Amino acid sequence: MFELIKRDLIPISWLHTQDFCEYQLYLQHVLRIKLPATKEMLSGLQKHAELEQAFREKAAPIEEPIETHINKLLRGEIEPFSMREFSLKSEKYRLTGKIDEIQLFRERALIIDNKPSLSAKAADINQLRAYCLCFSDAYRWEGEICNAVQNSESQKFVFAERFNEDAKLAAEGLISRMHALFSGNADFSAADEKWKCAACRFNAVCKKAAYKPGQ
Ligand code: SF4
Repeated sequence: MFELIKRDLIPISWLHTQDFCEYQLYLQHVLRIKLPATKEMLSGLQKHAELEQAFREKAAPIEEPIETHINKLLRGEIEPFSMREFSLKSEKYRLTGKIDEIQLFRERALIIDNKPSLSAKAADINQLRAYCLCFSDAYRWEGEICNAVQNSESQKFVFAERFNEDAKLAAEGLISRMHALFSGNADFSAADEKWKCAACRFNAVCKKAAYKPGQ
């Protein structure tokens, strides 16, 4: 069992599920139960694709390694720039992820996640902080890092924070929990809120559901 579920790199997007129900992570990524995507998931993918397309139509491609480009920015040789669907990998935290948008200035990095909601949930903030952690390690970024949730429709920011020491500690704790789960050193907790189970697409196959329709 230990070898079966062992994972070296944790995708940051899984933190969203972790906040909702860890047992769902188990069903999805350990037992590998596959279910059709929900309407909300498909609509989220569609919106991301539209934002990516709109960005590509305006953005100039970066024709050199990103590290080189960042170093030029830090030396003041180029203007601030932004990237979308920016892939990251941190060896130190054993994380991978793709940031919706990152804006880089000489003194600050701003990491943006696009969401359909009008406010940020705890899961959104956890995910953003993990991106900050991953970026700071992957690019040895020593300047300030901020993060924000941007509404996908209105493009307005509905949450923003500075990635300070408290946020960093919170993210490190969560990542350590994820590694404990996926290395077999902790049990996946099932949600005990009935509303979560009622809304969960894994409800029909879940033996730990706190609520089953019709029962
Ligand atoms: S039905 Fe409930 S306990 Fe089961 S995976 Fe979904 S949210 Fe978790």
